[in-house]
Amino acid sequence: PQRLIGQHALLTGTAGGIGLAATTAFLREGAHCTAVDLAATPSAELQALLAQYPSHFQYLSADVSRQDSIAAMVAAARAKFGTITTLLNNAAVFSLGDILEITEKQYEVIFNVNVKGMFFVMQAVLKQMVADGCKGSVTNLASQAGRRGEALVAHYCASKAAVISYTQSAALAMAPHGIRVNGISPGVIDTPMWKDVDAQFAKAEGLQIGEKKKAVGLAVPLGYMGAPEDVARAAVFLASPEASYITAQTLNVDGGNVMS
Ligand code: NAD
Repeated sequence: PQRLIGQHALLTGTAGGIGLAATTAFLREGAHCTAVDLAATPSAELQALLAQYPSHFQYLSADVSRQDSIAAMVAAARAKFGTITTLLNNAAVFSLGDILEITEKQYEVIFNVNVKGMFFVMQAVLKQMVADGCKGSVTNLASQAGRRGEALVAHYCASKAAVISYTQSAALAMAPHGIRVNGISPGVIDTPMWKDVDAQFAKAEGLQIGEKKKAVGLAVPLGYMGAPEDVARAAVFLASPEASYITAQTLNVDGGNVMS
């Protein structure tokens, strides 16, 4: 049986790897989905989903680092499919930087999207859930980077540690309303973000294109990089009634990588 029937999911960063896989999985599980990304028009893959699920899917263009954009996004989502019952707070950006060289601009871009954006999207959706008396759920995308240091990625690691922290605090604040707030902490997942990460490492460490990606996959205890669908399945579970007694957790979906 489909596990998300009757739900309206708002998912951000859906033109990317994990966001697209999650939107596909949520639609398959019977949810109505409002899928968000920066581009004015949906990607080819999102257009295909629209064709497949015309009554259950809408695409919205929004920038989660901007308050006006968040307000318009949440209002348009609610206008189309009613109260948002579950949020997959997934949009984020990545950049490499030596800790002695990270610029203020680099820092601001990472924190504006990954921390400020995640926080205020969550706040806007939680306000709507509370106002509508909805016992919904939120899942924030953190990262194993938020659980450990990385010499060349300090600002990204700190941004993801902040996501884990906000997840815990929001879960406690929302528990009296019956709203659950959890996180997912992926390890290394084969998405468009990793193409960019690999290219940035190649430049920083003098490697061939593809070399870093291959090495990180082999270093995972299970021996390979995860697929976006691995993360999407965890997102479906956390949004579903199967997870009704789970809150304030950030689940590692990483093939054991955080232990290595
Ligand atoms: P991705 O780069 O493939 O997709 C991210 C999407 O977010 C893109 O489509 C991008 O356009 C969108 N986005 C960026 N800034 C935005 C903004 N301001 N407003 C709206 N949309 C915006 O990334 P992914 O690998 O699918 O990652 C998804 C999530 O998982 C992110 O939070 C990422 O930090 C996290 N994560 C990924 C990995 C990995 O190995 N791929 C590991 C750990 C955590």
